[in-house]
Formats: sequence, C-alpha cells, structure tokens
Amino acid sequence: MEIKINEKLLGGKLKELQKARSWRPNVISKFEDLIRSGDDYSLFRVNPLKFGSENGISEQEAIDLFLYATMVGLFEMNWQLLCPGCGDVVESFNTLRNLDSQYHCNLCQKDFEAALDDYIEVSFTIDPRIREIAFHNPQSLSIEDYFFKYVFSHGAVYPDGTKIVDVVQKLVKILTYLEPGEKKEFEVEIPTGFLVGYDCINHAEFLFNVTGEPKPGIQRFSSKFVEGKYSPAKDELSPGRYVFGFENHTNERGALLLIHEPTDYSTPGRLHYEPFLTGKKVLTTQTFRDLFRSEIIQGTEGIGVKDITILFTDLKESTALYDGIGDLKAFALVRQHFDILGKVVNMHSGAIVKTIGDAIMATFLNPFDAVNVALGMLHKMERFNQGFSGKDIKLKIGIHKGSSVAVTLNDRPDYFGQTVNISSRVQKLADADEINISHDVYAYPGVQELLKDFEVVLGKANLKGVQGEIQIYKIKKTAVVP
Ligand SMILES: [Zn+2]
Repeated sequence: MEIKINEKLLGGKLKELQKARSWRPNVISKFEDLIRSGDDYSLFRVNPLKFGSENGISEQEAIDLFLYATMVGLFEMNWQLLCPGCGDVVESFNTLRNLDSQYHCNLCQKDFEAALDDYIEVSFTIDPRIREIAFHNPQSLSIEDYFFKYVFSHGAVYPDGTKIVDVVQKLVKILTYLEPGEKKEFEVEIPTGFLVGYDCINHAEFLFNVTGEPKPGIQRFSSKFVEGKYSPAKDELSPGRYVFGFENHTNERGALLLIHEPTDYSTPGRLHYEPFLTGKKVLTTQTFRDLFRSEIIQGTEGIGVKDITILFTDLKESTALYDGIGDLKAFALVRQHFDILGKVVNMHSGAIVKTIGDAIMATFLNPFDAVNVALGMLHKMERFNQGFSGKDIKLKIGIHKGSSVAVTLNDRPDYFGQTVNISSRVQKLADADEINISHDVYAYPGVQELLKDFEVVLGKANLKGVQGEIQIYKIKKTAVVP
C-alpha cells in the first residue's frame, strides 16, 4: 500500500512534540523516520521498550516519547489484555477506563484475571489522521495478516525464541474468510490428532478428534455456520484425505482458522512475552500521571498489581515550622520541598500518586529505585536546608512493597490495600532524617549495596492492624565514617 502522510498535520505535531520536553539528539528524527518509512505493521501496537532498544534510546525516554506523542495526537494508546496461554490479544482498549481485568480467551477456552504487572500491555498505534495503515481497518487485511499480525501478539515467544505465530502457521490446514452466504470447499490431508477450528470474528470454535484407521479415497465433511455457531461443534473423524465444506448462513463475515495438532504434539515449552510496557510501569511513570490526569480505572474492584513498591514521606514537626516562621513562609517552603522531591522521584522512574498535607505518596517498580530516591531526597533536603537559615525541613521516609489494587480515588489512579497501610505505618515510625524500610525492601537485590555506607539499625515493631511483629530497618542519614 502506498504511504500517505498528512504532511501539514505531521509537521505541526512533531514541532509540538519537540517542545514538550528536552530530548536527546536524534530521538525525534528516529521517531519521524518510523512514521514516514516504517511499514504498516511497524506502526501498529508499537512496543516503546523495543523501539528504544533498537534505536539506542533509554527506556524512560522511549516511554516518554510515545506518551507525549499520544498527548499531541501522533499516536493512540492501546491497553491490551494478552492471553497467557496462546499469545492472543484478547481485547484492546484505547483508554485505561475501558479496561476490565477479567477476560476470556476463546482460543484457549479459559477465563483469566490480569494484573497490571503481568498480562496488561500498553502499546501505541499511529493516529489515522497522521498516516492510515491497514491495521486501522482490520477487515481490510488479508486473512494471514488478520490472524498472524492482528489477532496474535507480536511478542509471544517460546523459550527457544520461536514465535507463537510461526508455530501456529505450521499447524494451519485452513485459513479463510467466509463471507455472508458464502460456501467454500478445501481439500486437505488430515492425519490422526486434533482439529481445532476458531472463528476469531464471531468467537466461535469447534473441535474434531481424528482417530482410528485411515480411510481410503476422499471423505467429505461439511459444517454450517448458523446463528454464531459452527455445527457440528464436536465430532470424531477418521484420518485420511478430506473435502471440507463450510457454509456461512449468517449475515456476518467469518474468519476461520483450522489447525491440526498431531497426537504427539507438544509446544516448545512455556509461552512468554518479550519485554513490554506493562500497565504497572505506565502507572508508575510520572509523565503518564502528568499527561493523562483524568485516566481512571473502571469499576469499584479496581485492577490488581502483584508487586509494587510504595514510598511515603512526611515532615518532622511541621507544626513547629509553621509556628516559627508563619504560615505563608512555611507554605512556600513546603511547596519548594514538594518540587525538589518530585524531581528526585521523576529521575528514578517513579511517580507521585498524591500529596497529603505535607506528605507524599509515591510508587516505584522496585525497591531499588525507591531506596535510591529516598537517599536522594535526604541528600537534596540537606542541601536545601543549607541554603536556608531558618528552621530545618526534616524528612521522615518509609518504604514497603507488596501486592495492591489500583483504583480511582478523587478522579486519579490511586492504590489501595494492606501494602499501602503498612508503608504508611512504616513511615510514621521514622525519625527525622531517617528512612525506614521493611524486610522485603531490605532483601531486594542491590538495596544492601546501596546502603553500604549508611548506618542501618534493625528494629521490630507492632503495627496497628497488622498481625505479629514486623522487622524494620532504620537508615540514618549520616553515612558511617570509615
Ligand atoms: Zn488463549
């Protein structure tokens, strides 16, 4: 297909993107190359992590690039639910608000519940106003592209590197659209095993067991598609040569995939996905929270996150500060301290979820980033206090990790659950200029190395609403003098 680009719109939007933040040299030109010369498939569900690694752009900058590109209208964001079993993109939504974490894969005949850190992928597709690609209109695709590029995910691979689409392609016996009213016949050789049929447009499936002695000559088998179902949906066939006839008795187009699995068939190991941008990573990215403020999570149950690191800060004796220098001055100082902390969080791929009074709640992908940020916060506040002769602003920081539920509170994505409660209580036990972390945070790879120059004191505490004592590691600001 000829590439048609809306030059005027592209030029204007690229200028907007250029101005949105400072980019490293060549980032925008590489991005423009993709839009101008990439084939249709390379502009469909782009994985920013992959684009970054292929073009020498850091992960954080590549994510920012596509988030800003979405904001200015160059790309559209896709929230996809991936099937853990078969690599099928089960559902895709343009916004987080439509995402439901409960889903059903028709191909696997199984229900799944996705968490933000596993099977929820965020990818980006070129905006049709900038450049139209065939994938904007999936019904225009060839049947091969429809199944192997649109239905199945780009990144589903087996441990030996084989892509699921390549495995499925080897098993295909019949692959066809079936227009309303259409009859089609296919002559195929069917050995013993299983025949699995799947109509991806109508979510209809059928299963034939191929067993017994092979029959000579050509056998006939016909199937009718009526009221959204193929009949017969189940049958036993003898192995041999067949003419399969399909008749579409509905007003809907069918897209039929018939695959044959030999009796001794097994997949080359467990399916996994190449690294992609997870829903959790997006929600813990400050740029996303800044640009897409109104993105909300639907429903009251929220969406689970299996593992997230939560950091709370608060100010030591802020009432004394307000009393000492007056409300206005104190407020200005507190605002400055928010700005400083926000920059530190942003630098280490975290996001501020909210501020509560003089306190901050921030989330991170892992404890290493969170502890790194906490140390950076103490350091920055020390320098801040040096330039200010009045009352010191002293931080008390707490960090904990665990599972949580992402929900919408006050129209913003927020987190809920025991991990949040414990993080907040761990923070409350901290003294001025001190970081308190739970054992899970302390035990995370790299954290002890980060803390090797600091005094770490192990304590135990009973937290309100938490059963049993928990271990708390208290990190003092002052580095140990060697
Ligand atoms: Zn599946």
